[in-house]
Amino acid sequence: MITATRLAVIGSSIAGCAAALAAQRAGAASVTVFERSGGRLAARGAGLAVHGERYAELEAAGFLDARMPYVPLARRTWYVKDAAAPSPLGRTLGVMPFGFRTYGWGSLWRELRGRVPGSVEFRPGSAVKEVRLTSRGVELDGEPFDAVVGADGHRSVVRTAACPGTVPAYSGYLAWRGAYAGADLPDAHLWPADDCAYVVFDGGHVVIYRIPDDCGGHRVNWVLYTAPPAGHVLPPDGRRMLTDDLAERLAEVTRKQLPPFFAALIEATPADDRFMQPLYDFTAPRYATDRLALVGDAATVARPHTGAGAVKALQDATALQEALRAAATPAEAFAAYDARRSPVGRTMVDLGRTLGKALVHGTPDWAGMRDGDLEAFWRRADGSGAFGGRELKRA
Ligand SMILES: Cc1cc2nc3c(=O)[nH]c(=O)nc-3n(C[C@H](O)[C@H](O)[C@H](O)COP(=O)(O)OP(=O)(O)OC[C@H]3O[C@@H](n4cnc5c(N)ncnc54)[C@H](O)[C@@H]3O)c2cc1C
Repeated sequence: MITATRLAVIGSSIAGCAAALAAQRAGAASVTVFERSGGRLAARGAGLAVHGERYAELEAAGFLDARMPYVPLARRTWYVKDAAAPSPLGRTLGVMPFGFRTYGWGSLWRELRGRVPGSVEFRPGSAVKEVRLTSRGVELDGEPFDAVVGADGHRSVVRTAACPGTVPAYSGYLAWRGAYAGADLPDAHLWPADDCAYVVFDGGHVVIYRIPDDCGGHRVNWVLYTAPPAGHVLPPDGRRMLTDDLAERLAEVTRKQLPPFFAALIEATPADDRFMQPLYDFTAPRYATDRLALVGDAATVARPHTGAGAVKALQDATALQEALRAAATPAEAFAAYDARRSPVGRTMVDLGRTLGKALVHGTPDWAGMRDGDLEAFWRRADGSGAFGGRELKRA
């Protein structure tokens, strides 16, 4: 047990809340959480999907709760535009089982935040600038701690201290995203509620599913992946609004490459509810040193085609909790944690790159696909079988 350890967590998003909970449950003497944002994190983001089996493991580990509102999905239908198709949804290329639950990011975060007991000190509006290793521990902007968990996302200051030189690599394409009230979806009855739509086109695809809202209804959530127009310059400060050239590119792809039902679905998104994220990925060479551990996107970012970034973050916290409980010192715990989680992170990053190639950079001739071609394509793309996240094996 690490009962004498004063532990700090940097970041209070999905990974940070889960890591704070893990450290508190493992018996740390004190847990302090630094969060750069001073606002309400719950207002962030759109939807995410969690594989049903991964959900069950995380519920058993005490990080997720059956009372959280979700939409159950049963199948993933692959659609492609085909002028000869009688359906406004286009031609169906294939249907695969898809046992996922979908969540609103905000309710997932609120659930985690609500589980963290009052004994954990949260400091919103506190951006950590310097992580300095000393002979006795770690100083965060001069304040001493025994050990630090970096849950500070893909531009982590903790990772810079633990693994200098690890820089996220730009994938070459963006995720355009949107979400809006289900009541505003045109011709909603045409698209089954438990269907996850993969609408594919030359050079990208869009994933669409319903997520719960906070009022017992649902929202339509979509993420479209394709390259930005030539010459587009990524904003250096991480701004996520759609510039004119990105809005035009989205409109062009929607109009020319999507079947009418899905084009109308995206066009129905209010302008304020559209945003974009450039996609990066990387693997840190290690998940921990003696005094520093990395969780969630701070440790590895796999492209979202893996459908498992939040799952990976929560699994990291679960593994961290088990390691902290079993060890006498943070160094011992962090070594066990690193050995358990580094290989999973690498697997997910590799899978994200393979799926990115198959679904964006090097898309096949979708329109030419016939019986069995899609299943063969997917078997090649997800060769590791890690889509939706790796099983969380007990330590
Ligand atoms: C398009 C897209 C779709 C996705 N879909 C899915 C999905 O379907 N299923 C799924 O499981 N995952 C999905 N993910 C991934 C998932 O959203 C993330 O992997 C997950 O939320 C883990 O985030 P995190 O908490 O590690 O990092 P973040 O959410 O980035 O949080 C980092 C936190 O640290 C804070 N911070 C940063 N620097 C400092 C500092 N110096 N001092 C103090 N605080 C700091 C930030 O303010 C922030 O709150 C998707 C991701 C994308 C981009």
